[in-house]
Amino acid sequence: MAIRKISEYPEKVLAEVGKPVTEFDEELAKLCVDMFETMYDAEGVGLAAPQIGLNLRLFVMDCEGIRLIAANPEVVWTEGEQSSQEGCLSVGKVPAVVVRPANVRLRAQNEKGMWFEREAEGYAARCFLHETDHCDGKLFIDHLPKMRREMVVKSFKKRKKW
Ligand SMILES: [Zn+2]
Repeated sequence: MAIRKISEYPEKVLAEVGKPVTEFDEELAKLCVDMFETMYDAEGVGLAAPQIGLNLRLFVMDCEGIRLIAANPEVVWTEGEQSSQEGCLSVGKVPAVVVRPANVRLRAQNEKGMWFEREAEGYAARCFLHETDHCDGKLFIDHLPKMRREMVVKSFKKRKKW
């Protein structure tokens, strides 16, 4: 097991559309162990492969009792709306309010390649959406109006002392 280095904005890998996971082997299982380890170490509730520099459609999460591995994730259904604070390990956890659907159904494969569907609401639904976005090269700040996006980036840079 190993804690991986977390990629941070504006690293290119975070803006790339991830490649599908095709090999459901021992190596993938080990990668997922590392991703959980890295996520817990950083006190996050979700972590996607691009956040550790890998251009892959894969994330892990442990949020409000939902602990799972999602390879090739797709959001297949959404309903309602929620508006609350969100942050990202790749943007220094600087919080911002993001409007998202309230209920979400995710379709993905586990580490063995078996497809599953899982529904979530509230914070866990937000996590499904946030992590699936990472697999599409999107960050939560991409959902913000320009001014608010700039404010988040500015305060992240300040924390990093660029
Ligand atoms: Zn994130």
